[in-house]
Amino acid sequence: DSVFAHVVQAPEDPILGVTVAYNKDPSPIKLNLGVGAYRTEEGKPLVLNVVRQAEQQLVNDISRVKEYLPIVGLAEFNKLSAKLILGADNPAVQESRVTTVQCLSGTGSLRVGGEFLARHYHERTIYIPQPTWGNHIKVFTWSGLSVKTYRYYDPATRGLNFQGLLEDLGSAPSGAIVLLHACAHNPTGVDPTLEQWEQIRQLVRSRALLPFFDSAYQGFASGSLDSDAQPVRIFAADGGECLVAQSYAKNMGLYGERVGALSIVCKSADVARRVESQLKLVIRPMYSNPPIHGASIVATILRDRDLFNEWTIELKAMADRIISMRKQLFDALKTRGTPGDWSHIIKQIGMFTFTGLNAEQVAFMTKEYHIYMTSDGRISMAGLSSKTVPHLTDAIHAAVT
Ligand code: PLP
Repeated sequence: DSVFAHVVQAPEDPILGVTVAYNKDPSPIKLNLGVGAYRTEEGKPLVLNVVRQAEQQLVNDISRVKEYLPIVGLAEFNKLSAKLILGADNPAVQESRVTTVQCLSGTGSLRVGGEFLARHYHERTIYIPQPTWGNHIKVFTWSGLSVKTYRYYDPATRGLNFQGLLEDLGSAPSGAIVLLHACAHNPTGVDPTLEQWEQIRQLVRSRALLPFFDSAYQGFASGSLDSDAQPVRIFAADGGECLVAQSYAKNMGLYGERVGALSIVCKSADVARRVESQLKLVIRPMYSNPPIHGASIVATILRDRDLFNEWTIELKAMADRIISMRKQLFDALKTRGTPGDWSHIIKQIGMFTFTGLNAEQVAFMTKEYHIYMTSDGRISMAGLSSKTVPHLTDAIHAAVT
């Protein structure tokens, strides 16, 4: 008998499992709205033109070798990544009190940050929004932190429960870590306004909480890299400390290249150097050093003015298509006379709409309409197209009537 005979079958990941189920469905009308990846109007994955150009440059440069990167990754990539999220003129950047390490996309950046905090920070509790991206709970628990939640989403308004958020962060123990989605909150698509962010900043600083930003969608929410980074920038510029996990999965379409960065904004350049030395001790036994290809693509694009400009145009086109899908779905439901207020579809931002459909309605839509989504009613607007809006509208209409 196998020495592993006692191992029980684990459940599918609640998000990735949606695609597993979708792939098994032979129906020609099936539609996958569970996937957190951009699709074109034709439903195809997209490799950005700037990425193709950067890769061509990399291939043509025969001086490039495949040697290991340092433990912290590609130095130029790290510098440019910090500037991209914090802004080149941010005092924290100017004063060299930021340390940045290249990590395995957003998830790896969160995990390295979590492990560092569990080892070197005095408060082990991290507050995450309710709800949040499901993997946050597991990433931080396995990092050795204790996970608690703060109120975030109000099902009644399908908007922000700002009062609840302020109350919960206001009563969190001094020093507690707070996970904040930098923009395009996943799964709700609900973000605080800039005025609300400023109030959150003041509360976080007055209670000496430690902000940990998850920036998985910079540029994807509004179409502007700068606007989407604004919440992070006001925290990084106030002289206080914070962490930022960045992902290039969505905004550069580099999903499978696994390229991201963890930045820790410190009080001084001296502290930042010591923090970096300890980050290396976290990374070395975990995966030794990060992969070279994706980071080289990003550095090639960020360093070159023309490629950078072209990237911002392609990024805005992706964001605009998503915004236009919101409008089309909203209009279609109104025209159809589907009962309910669907204005949250156009108010929410980013890749996902939190439809308000319950698990039973989701199961119905999957069974009868072959539409796949997570059971919390989250749909990927990026997976939708003009051609599939009518089918989704029919399914929602049938589910709620
Ligand atoms: N954080 C949030 C909120 C996300 O939605 C995602 C991806 O879906 C990630 C982090 C991490 O993604 P990746 O590890 O592919 O960069």
